Formats: sequence, C-alpha cells, structure tokens
Amino acid sequence: MAKSRFEYVKEFEKENYLLQNCYIIIRIDGKNFHKFSKEYQFEKPNDSRALNLMNKASLSLFSKFNDVIMAYGDSDEYSFLLRKNTVLYERRESKLNSIFVSFFTAYYNHYWNEFFPDNPLDVNRLPTFDSRCILYPSAENVKDYFKWRQVDCHINNLYNTTFWTLIEKGKLSPKEAENKLIGTLSSDKNEILFSQFGINYNNEKEIYKKGTIITRDYNYNKSNKEIENENENENKNKNTGKIFEVNLTERQKQRENKKIKRAKILIEHIDLIKDDFWKEKSIF
Ligand code: ATP
Ligand code: ATP
Ligand code: MG
Ligand code: MG
Ligand code: MG
Ligand code: MG
Repeated sequence: MAKSRFEYVKEFEKENYLLQNCYIIIRIDGKNFHKFSKEYQFEKPNDSRALNLMNKASLSLFSKFNDVIMAYGDSDEYSFLLRKNTVLYERRESKLNSIFVSFFTAYYNHYWNEFFPDNPLDVNRLPTFDSRCILYPSAENVKDYFKWRQVDCHINNLYNTTFWTLIEKGKLSPKEAENKLIGTLSSDKNEILFSQFGINYNNEKEIYKKGTIITRDYNYNKSNKEIENENENENKNKNTGKIFEVNLTERQKQRENKKIKRAKILIEHIDLIKDDFWKEKSIF
C-alpha cells in the first residue's frame, strides 16, 4: 500500500517483545467483582455457578491456544501458563494481554445465561476483566507462582467461610464478624467453625479450598508400548535440544499439534503445593 505523509505516526507505537527463554503467565482478574458479585446476588462465600462459569470460559481459552500448557483459577481470577518457547503473537505483550482478556471476557459474557438463567446481564453492569503478563525464568519460579495463588485461595476461602458463617449462622453483623476475625490465625478460624458451628473446614468442597487446575493428559488413550516409544524419542530430542527449538520443522509442528489435539483435558481441584503434583504432570 502506498505510504501517506501521515504514516510517520506509526513510529510512535512501542512494542514490548517478552524476553525469550522465559515462561509467560497471563493472569486475568474480574474488575470490581466485590461489587459485581453483590449486584448479581452471588451466593456467599462461594457461588458455584460463578466458579463454573469462570472455568467454562477458561476451558474455552485453553482449548483454543495449544501454547497454553496449564491454567489455574479461583474467585474472579485465572492464570494461563504459556510454554517457555512460545512464539504466539511473536511474544508481543500488548497482543497477548489484549487477545487473552478479550477472548475471556467474550466467553464469560457469552456463557453467562447458561449459568445464571434467571439473572440476565444488565448492559450497564457487564462483567469486565483486567490482564497482565508476567515472565518467569525458571520452572521453580513458575511452580512457586502457582503455589502462591493456591495458598491465597486457601487463606481467602478460610476467611470468607468463617466470616459468612458468623453472619448467616452466628447472626453477627458484617462489622461484628470482621472485628471478631481481626488478628486470628488459621487455627483460630478452624476452631470457631468447629466449636461454634460444628463445621469441619476439611469437609468443605475441594473446588472452594483448592481452586481449579486445567492441564492436558498426553498419554490418554495410548498403549504402554506407545508411551515407551515416545519417551525414547523425546529423550533423544531432549539430548539434541531439538524439541525446545523455536524453529520447529513443519513436520515437528504437526506432530506436536497432533499430540495436543489427542490429549485429554483434565480439570482438577487438587493440591499443587506438594511436589507430587509436579512430578506427576509433565509440564516441565
Ligand atoms: P479489582 O477490580 O481490584 O480486582 P475486586 O473487587 O474484583 O477488585 P478481588 O480482590 O479481585 O477484588 O476480589 C474478588 C471478589 O469477588 C471476592 O472478594 C469476592 O467478594 C467476589 N467473588 C468472586 N468470585 C466469587 C464467587 N464465585 N462467589 C462469591 N463471590 C465471589
Ligand atoms: P489482525 O488480527 O492482525 O488485525 P486483520 O485481518 O484484522 O488482522 P486488519 O488490518 O485489522 O487485519 O484489517 C481488518 C480487515 O477486516 C479489513 O481488511 C477488512 O477485510 C475487514 N473488515 C473490517 N471491517 C469491515 C467492514 N465493516 N466491512 C467489511 N470488511 C471489514
Ligand atoms: Mg485485585
Ligand atoms: Mg477482581
Ligand atoms: Mg481477584
Ligand atoms: Mg484487525
């Protein structure tokens, strides 16, 4: 296309190409969901419909992008881990942020009626999300990132469960419940729930306590022989570093994509703080 004399303004655009050899995590989070959840009468402390809607939107995103290798979510947030050597959108930060958050928001709005059939969205109060990209240079940092989010989920859930029990069953006002919980430790909250209300926190739903983890099982539907052969091939490739090269051949790309398409997507509410989780998953 012919250049116009106005074209120079394009030069003002600055692109941030995210550092190579680093894992990219994109985290989206609901805007002002404290208020949003009240306006749409979410059940407190945990509205299962809202969590399932978050999970459905994330699953749609996860299935759409082969480069997303794991996702974790709780409350109004979701984190998406991209493989280390992804070249998705040339690793351009603004493209990744804007495309992920707009896809997520579109899916969330699209599926809303399925989960809240009696509560249609008001055009003046549509759900919106923010997004950020974070870079981590090591697998260790990535593991700690997800552990941080899951610990946060647990701490918030224990607090919220106790807070709402004090209000709903203990008949305290929100202010009184808040005051009662100031300075309390986890053990104190467990004790309040158990001794005053007969609630064993351990018996609360796993999705509330642990959040939701989405991964792929690449060995789904495969014989042991196939798994063995593939492990052998992968080890060969690992030695040459080939499988991690950015410039995979077309054939290698096809094979990778086939492997991903064939994999089974797993949705779990399990502990990822213990090493067992990371040993079992072939993420790193
Ligand atoms: P910001 O825009 O800064 O993120 P926020 O109000 O969304 O503000 P968050 O720290 O993200 O603040 O907290 C999200 C809040 O949304 C929770 O504290 C909770 O009140 C509410 N919430 C999210 N999901 C649910 C759910 N499934 N059930 C009940 N409440 C929920
Ligand atoms: P990218 O994702 O990189 O933006 P793109 O295909 O969206 O790729 P653009 O340069 O943004 O590329 O061009 C948008 C294209 O969308 C136009 O070239 C045109 O073909 C089509 N398009 C957009 N709006 C209309 C419209 N109102 N009527 C018909 N075609 C349209
Ligand atoms: Mg926030
Ligand atoms: Mg929020
Ligand atoms: Mg949040
Ligand atoms: Mg366009």
